[in-house]
This record gives sequence, structure tokens and C-alpha cells, in this order.
Amino acid sequence: MSLREQQLIDGFARIHDNLRISVTDRCNIRCFYCMPDEGVEFTDRSEILTFEEIERFVRVAATLGVTKLRITGGEPLVRKDLPKLIKRLAAIPGIRDLAMTTNGVLLTQHAQSLYDAGLRRLNVHLDTLDRDRFRQITRRDDLPRVLDGIETARQIGFSPIKINIVAVKNLIEPDVVPMAIYCRERGFEPRFIEFMPLDAQDLWARRKVLSADEIIDTLSREISPLVAVPDADPRAPATEYRYADGGGVVGLVASVTRPFCLNCNRLRLTADGNVRYCLFALEETDVKHILRGGSDEDLAEAIRGTVADKWIGHQINSGRFVPPPRPMYSIGG
Ligand code: SAM
Repeated sequence: MSLREQQLIDGFARIHDNLRISVTDRCNIRCFYCMPDEGVEFTDRSEILTFEEIERFVRVAATLGVTKLRITGGEPLVRKDLPKLIKRLAAIPGIRDLAMTTNGVLLTQHAQSLYDAGLRRLNVHLDTLDRDRFRQITRRDDLPRVLDGIETARQIGFSPIKINIVAVKNLIEPDVVPMAIYCRERGFEPRFIEFMPLDAQDLWARRKVLSADEIIDTLSREISPLVAVPDADPRAPATEYRYADGGGVVGLVASVTRPFCLNCNRLRLTADGNVRYCLFALEETDVKHILRGGSDEDLAEAIRGTVADKWIGHQINSGRFVPPPRPMYSIGG
């Protein structure tokens, strides 16, 4: 088989080597831009992929050129025995990079076993250092636990630690500078992610997005001028900027104001066994039935087919935009 046949290349010549795996749709907090406060219906446990099924999927995906994995959810740390999965995935030939996105609430108790299992890279989601605003955003009072979890992870040696901040206008402006300073002082990279239309309650509107440009202006004015990193990976979702004074790096995920679909190299596996080629995709490929009764070749064919059908990009900025049928927590962010 030629190299081209072994790789996942879509109709726009984009090579797919990056897989996000959601291990659960359950979460222990209720961020308003992702989940409703009450009445969330979670997938029945029997419909959630087992660790064996996830591992098999990744083994096959690795033969098709997938080298990078990110574990996400829901909240991945509510999935029992997650370090066991991490260990199995880290050992798969071809997997060179393994990261996890978490809300940090359960990090203190799990950080060491995750590290021992082979995880090194963490994104922790934290929008604010203000306890009231944390409660307002997440509908839970867990800020001290998250801060403790991040500190524990730092002391254990996780690196890099990136901090995900969802940029919602008329809400997190007071947090932009304190979050950036918190990260600068600890060697973390803040990642400001523009609020995307992925909430469960249709709250999104373009005017509620705090744009990457506004954040760059604020940080450049209040801390130190930000300069684009020239040699940054063009396929990474975040555009990276460096402080001119050498005080570290800031990432901006400008999915709304500067979509980066043409550089997209990502695929997603949902907790209930569907493959998606985009966060905003309106269609997905059910691979659970293959994992529960088909061959590896069937699985490879399904993955190839999903990539082959990938659209050129999401339509957030056009009148044609239709929000995906699943909210963020059920896709896996
Ligand atoms: N529970 C983990 C967490 O909180 O990071 C992982 C799953 S969460 C869905 C993944 C990331 O999605 C979060 O870190 C948050 O930054 C981002 N996110 C959630 N809803 C979003 C939205 N509507 N727009 C932009 N980013 C969002």
C-alpha cells in the first residue's frame, strides 16, 4: 500500500493525524456555554465505548497515520480508571503525542496516576480566578479544587500545562488580564477560545463572542505587546503569540473571527462511538456497531470514508450556519 493510501487525506488535501477521543458525556460541572443546569440526559453506559473498544479504534487509526491523541469529554476524569486507558493508548505503536483536556475538579486525586500512566500534556479549563464568577459560569463552587488540581499537576511535572478560557463578551473581560498574569507567573499558556455556537440552550450570538483581536489588544496594552510566533504549527487550532518582554506565550483559538478550517487535521470519536470530521459536523459515522461486530478493515474503511466526506469548513459566519445536533459536552471538546 502506498503512503498516500495509508494516510487520511480528505478532498481538500488535508492530512488527518490528530484524534480527539471523548471518554464520557458526563460532567461534574455545568458551564452555561456547554450544558444546561438541569435535566441533562446522559448516554446509557451500555452505549459508551469500553476501553478495549477505544484502544482498538486507536490501533486502527494509528495504522492510517493518526499520531496525536487528546482525551476529552464531558469530563474525562469522571470516567472510572482513566489512567488504565491512558497507559494502553500511550503504548500503541505510532502514537507520539497524548494530551488531555479537563476541568481540573478531580485533578488533585488523579494527577499522579495519570502521570505514571504516561500522560504529560494537560489543558485545564479555567475561565476566572473570581469565585463568584466561577460559580456563575459553572453553577458549581469548585474554584479552590481546580486551583489545587492545577498546582498539584505542576508540582508533579506535567508540561506543558495550558489553561482554556472561553471568551464570552460582557462576562470575562475582568478576567483576561488576571488569567494571563496567573499563567505567566507559573509558566502556563493561556488559551483564549472564542465562544462557539455549541451550547445546549441556544444562547450563542455573534455579539457574545469576545474576539481574539480584542484580547490581543487588552494584553498588549496591559501586560506587554504580543507578537505572533512566526514558526508556530499552522495546523494547531490556537494561533500563538509571544509577549515582547519574554514573559511567555498566549494562545488564541479564533474559531469564529478567524476560522482555521483549511488547516484542520482533526477527527473526533464520541463517547458513544461515532466518528466526526468537525465539531460542527451535521453528520457522523457510527463505528460502535463495527467495534461490536465488524473487522478492523471495516473500521479502517469507515474512518477513511468519514475523512473523504469532510466538508471544507464550518459556516459559523454565514447565514447557512446550522448548529450541530449535539452540544459540546456530548461531542467532546
Ligand atoms: N470537561 C473538560 C473541560 O472542561 O475542559 C473537557 C470537555 S470541554 C467540552 C472542552 C473544552 O471546550 C473546554 O475546555 C472549554 O474550553 C471548551 N468549550 C466548551 N463549550 C464551549 C463553547 N460553547 N465555546 C467555546 N469553547 C467551549
